[in-house]
Amino acid sequence: MSTFENERNNRGTSVAEHHPLVGLDEQIAELRETGVYFFQRGWSVGTSSNYSVILDRGPCELLVTASGKDKGRLTERDFVRVGQDGTPVVPNQPKSSAETLLHCVVAQELEVGAILHTHSVWATLLSNLYFSEGAVKLEGYEMLKGLAGVDTHEHRVRLEIFENTQDIPILAEQVRKRLNDPANPLRYGYLIRRHGMYTWGRDLEEARRHIEVLEFLLECEGRRLMLEGSVSRNVST
Ligand SMILES: [Zn+2]
Repeated sequence: MSTFENERNNRGTSVAEHHPLVGLDEQIAELRETGVYFFQRGWSVGTSSNYSVILDRGPCELLVTASGKDKGRLTERDFVRVGQDGTPVVPNQPKSSAETLLHCVVAQELEVGAILHTHSVWATLLSNLYFSEGAVKLEGYEMLKGLAGVDTHEHRVRLEIFENTQDIPILAEQVRKRLNDPANPLRYGYLIRRHGMYTWGRDLEEARRHIEVLEFLLECEGRRLMLEGSVSRNVST
């Protein structure tokens, strides 16, 4: 019996009156573990970031982290079950992350199982440094092979950069447009200027690997610039 079913029984109410998180113990445990790990790596500090797994596609339903929670100490209740418009599927759930729509749009447009968003130092800095070029290009690194479908270091990934905004519906539509752009689709994720990174995978394990690989490569790029003393380039302000 899950934690939430127990809670219902202790209160004397029917198990049939399902709490929206009943049956999601495994997904919740994995997302909590992801939060601890990302917090410890410095990718999700100060209650930043949000994570989700896709529960259903017809219609689209996601399990997403609740708003404003410390990702290093997520409890079993710090999650919300939302529909494709980003609103809770049943009332009386915690408020979902302000950026929930950015999860929904990827879940609707791509065959993915999990979406992860981090606020690392390197994603924050490089998304500003390369903003005028529209993307950070990651090329020639062995670690690129950690991305799904890549089997050689002779590969280039463009991480597109979107301007930051507090108007999430507008940003979500910009992302949707790029996801559907056959000439230049968003394959592995994207950056938001001075903010952070979104990526995804066919399941949570793959999405976590993509975060690890992309964060590693962003750090390589940032440290390369420092070592080469080339940070004097024009920085967009
Ligand atoms: Zn964010």
